[in-house]
Amino acid sequence: MPHRARPARRRTAAATAALVAAAALVIGASPGPAGAADVPAPTQRVEYFPGPTAEPRQVTVPADTPARTDRQAPIPRGATSTVRALQRTGPVAGRLDLVVMGDGYTTDEQGEFADDAEEKLDEIFDVEPYRSYRGLFNVWLVNTASHESGVSGDPTADVVKDTALGAHFFCDDLERLLCVDTDKVAHYAASAPDADIVFVIANSTKYGGAGYSAVDLPPGTPFHGVATMSSDNDSSYLIGAHELGHSIGHLADEYQYAGYGAYPNADEPAEANLTLRRDPAGTKWYRWLGSPDPTGSVVGTYEGGGYYETGVYRPTETSIMRALTSTEFNVVGREAMIAGFYADADALTSSVPTSRPVGQGRRITVRLARLTGLADLDLTWYVDGREVSSATGALSVTPRKLGVHGRGHEITATVTDRTTAVRDPAIRAQTSDSLTWTVR
Ligand SMILES: [Zn+2]
Repeated sequence: MPHRARPARRRTAAATAALVAAAALVIGASPGPAGAADVPAPTQRVEYFPGPTAEPRQVTVPADTPARTDRQAPIPRGATSTVRALQRTGPVAGRLDLVVMGDGYTTDEQGEFADDAEEKLDEIFDVEPYRSYRGLFNVWLVNTASHESGVSGDPTADVVKDTALGAHFFCDDLERLLCVDTDKVAHYAASAPDADIVFVIANSTKYGGAGYSAVDLPPGTPFHGVATMSSDNDSSYLIGAHELGHSIGHLADEYQYAGYGAYPNADEPAEANLTLRRDPAGTKWYRWLGSPDPTGSVVGTYEGGGYYETGVYRPTETSIMRALTSTEFNVVGREAMIAGFYADADALTSSVPTSRPVGQGRRITVRLARLTGLADLDLTWYVDGREVSSATGALSVTPRKLGVHGRGHEITATVTDRTTAVRDPAIRAQTSDSLTWTVR
């Protein structure tokens, strides 16, 4: 099933090199003359969004699509890209790093790409919980210049464009399926300081996009997924918002296919938003039962989801994980997304290193991520594990002011997100982050 694998989160330089090599090896490999009869052509599974009101579905496409083999040259030797931060909120080690690339923008159109990227991101970050937690994201724009403006398959299948990332509609003859050359995407993404998620914005007014989950990307790919979307279509941002639900929240698709029948597995699904338990009190989202929901329904057990019609249940009638006619995650999805944010990002940082002891008069300043809306950060100070309530919320302290006189004591700053969008104590614990200094 798609979206089940949880890839390694952090990239190293070596992993990046391995990624690029693996991408070239696996996705770029075409069967040689000797093995042509035996070796199946490489394929990739992608999520397809037939239209703004049509339900998405999973499709398998050849990794060597015609646009790639016939129209696209390999990455030119010495091809370069430039990177700049569209939004930098903190160190890459403590942030979710989103890489945005454009395709079908010429050298002269890079300003237009930046405008399109900004507009698309503003739309995505208007959806909760992205809106409240935008301060945990860095966003990197990677500029790749295409030889021609626009992308293949726009407006019709016979249109062919020479572009940096090989984006093309009519992928595997599906008009709205916007595929890309994933080894080129991986190559250019490696120029960003870090990449947890990659968006490709194709210069087009046509509705379309695709979602590649990590399991269907080249082995060793360090990021959780790639989402493609068209630049000037008002609805295509929802494709990005949905795909981040998989890659950050590890959420299942809540849609089903006619004719798929009963859920085939006996094991409870790993994802937060699907269950096999018909009894509402036994669901993993029992803490939310009966709650009104941003999607407009009441949290309960609604049959169908994870592509199957019966024997499996989802939390709400609809949501952004079921159909893009909904622009909201349900509360179960929001909670899982927030867990995902904190799995990769920290709300607490300090320029005072914790690796060296601090003097009793040393000023210790901490920074909290700038979060809004749903988020509710709570900063507490401890000396040797005992809370110093008079210092609650202080962004700057000294050991002496916390009452420390003498050596060897430990000062700890702890941030916890008290958001009401989290009810599971285990997820609440994940929102907590601490820094500890020893006093000399
Ligand atoms: Zn999906």
